[in-house]
Amino acid sequence: MRSGKKIAILGATGSIGQNCLHVAEKLSGEFNVTALTTNKNISLLIDQVKRFRPHMAAVTGVIPTEQQQQSFKQLGTRLFFGQDSLVEIVREADYELLINSVVGAAGFVPTLTALEAGKNIALANKETLVVGGELIIQAARKHGRTILPIDSEHSAIFQCLIGEDHNTIEEIILTASGGPFRTWSKEQLFSVTVEQALNHPNWSMGNKITIDSATMMNKGLEVIEAKWLFHVPVNKIRVVIHPQSIIHSMVAFYDGSVKAQLGEPDMRVPIQLAMTYPQRKPSEFPRIDFGTLKSLTFEEPDPNKFRALALAYQAAETGGTAPAVMNAANETAVRLFLEEKISFIRIAECIEETLDKIKIVSHPGLEDLLQADKQARAHVMQFIGD
Ligand code: NAD
Ligand code: MG
Repeated sequence: MRSGKKIAILGATGSIGQNCLHVAEKLSGEFNVTALTTNKNISLLIDQVKRFRPHMAAVTGVIPTEQQQQSFKQLGTRLFFGQDSLVEIVREADYELLINSVVGAAGFVPTLTALEAGKNIALANKETLVVGGELIIQAARKHGRTILPIDSEHSAIFQCLIGEDHNTIEEIILTASGGPFRTWSKEQLFSVTVEQALNHPNWSMGNKITIDSATMMNKGLEVIEAKWLFHVPVNKIRVVIHPQSIIHSMVAFYDGSVKAQLGEPDMRVPIQLAMTYPQRKPSEFPRIDFGTLKSLTFEEPDPNKFRALALAYQAAETGGTAPAVMNAANETAVRLFLEEKISFIRIAECIEETLDKIKIVSHPGLEDLLQADKQARAHVMQFIGD
């Protein structure tokens, strides 16, 4: 019998997923990994299965070869594959905590399914809350489950709020690095290459979130994520650029006091806390050296330059299916940019145009959200084809 908290990791082969497994390895004996998934990286998944011996695994984006299927069988791991395999894993695996580190709207239905099955979630997949925050929070409440944030800003806010009354929050202050183009002019953004956009100054992450950081849509998604996680209206969520990424976010209270959470920019710290919560465990991850840290600086984001951030606030204010439409348009546009089919500034144009044209449903159910996502993706393709 293996001991430890039983965890299932969706998107195990990604940047966050690999860091989760790193934490599980470092804190050996604390975790029992029971399920792992990938979209297409089967060779890495097989390596991970060899190391962690989960009961189940899933491949969503490609069909594994006969030989690959044999490898899983020999390791005693039941393999699922196909579009629905994430939900099958969520329903059938034996776990106490689901870590959702899939990228994109594909993470939404699995999160909802896990909450409905009475499971706690450690959530990296911010798109879950952007697409269907209302349904997710309702399901968590109904089933008495917790959503522990992995995103560094939300982990910071979560930590600042421990022991506090939510009614005393004056403002949530999300910090943003500003990405690689913080000091560029609006005109310079016309000539951004994929390579330049993938070169994030402080964080090493998957491609999609790295582009989102460059457009600052990442911060827009995080504003919506914070709204749902902390039950705060978006007009009380402010974004401040903090290029050093040492302060991960702050909460201002109504007595004028501000709490901040600090650390080196290393995702393993918030990942470990979400995995071990309510405990804190020791780690050897890098420490802040206050001797060499000369200054912490702050600036206002320029809404003209970072159009995507303004659009996210707008979609959040509109509510209903608007954030799901915005998210799907963004995912499609980012993919097209990475494939060098559209320019960097065209990403925000695609989102704005799609938000303008797709009819928004207020208080959507699951089907409305899935439909909105589909329509928005099709609309971007049509718009780009024009
Ligand atoms: P990544 O691209 O490195 O990894 C994504 C994982 O999801 C991979 O395992 C991939 O196989 C899987 N996947 C991709 N598309 C899928 C699909 N359609 N269906 C099922 N699985 C799919 O991404 P990442 O950087 O690890 O980010 C994962 C999530 O965490 C994103 O939502 C991101 O915004 C969020 N996040 C990441 C970081 C970070 O530092 N990387 C920080 C905060 C939040
Ligand atoms: Mg973040």
